Amino acid sequence: MTEAALREKVARLGKSMFDRGLMFGSPGNISVRLADGWLMTPTGTSLGALDPARLAKIDAAGQLVGGDPPTKEAFLHPVVYDRRARAGAVVHLHSTHSVAVSCLCGVDHSNVLPPLTAYYVMRVGTLPLIPYFAPGDIDLARAVGELASRHHAVLLANHGPVVAGKTLDDAVYATEELEETAKLFLALRGMATRPLTQAQVDDLQKRYPLNFSGRQRALCC
Ligand SMILES: [Zn+2]
Repeated sequence: MTEAALREKVARLGKSMFDRGLMFGSPGNISVRLADGWLMTPTGTSLGALDPARLAKIDAAGQLVGGDPPTKEAFLHPVVYDRRARAGAVVHLHSTHSVAVSCLCGVDHSNVLPPLTAYYVMRVGTLPLIPYFAPGDIDLARAVGELASRHHAVLLANHGPVVAGKTLDDAVYATEELEETAKLFLALRGMATRPLTQAQVDDLQKRYPLNFSGRQRALCC
């Protein structure tokens, strides 16, 4: 895909997520990998009103070489690309249900959400919780980086998800699946629930491997 087409796609998918209530105001950010760097959503700009021509362009050395200055949370993105060579895009949202789950006591920090649906297992798999750090704290980037080599999706406590994908479509779909599963999880709180069994999860992971590059299409980077 050309850089121009990627720019259009970032703006279109950003607006789509904004229009469907996955984001509000100006937080939330998207990046995509280019042959010579990255495109990143600008600081202080709503995902619902992105101008493709003004996306921040960052070179391989991390310098801004075009467009508006990048999101204040830009530091979250390179640590993921550094550790996931096949990642083509990263999406970070403050989507309501995912953030709500990130604030709960008593969740399993190694895997916050149960395998409620097949598509959650196929697109997200496991979701570790990263402890709270103030936005901009370099230790937050360090904590994301430590898990990014093993997990394409992580949940920042009291903050929101960071999700990588082979393509921007993959990253957006996985982020949306995560948000809908968080919504289901909250709707089912206090109710007797039947998540998928470990055997069913194992079967899905065999059929649709997340980190596999064989004949089947891997759903993840
Ligand atoms: Zn954030």
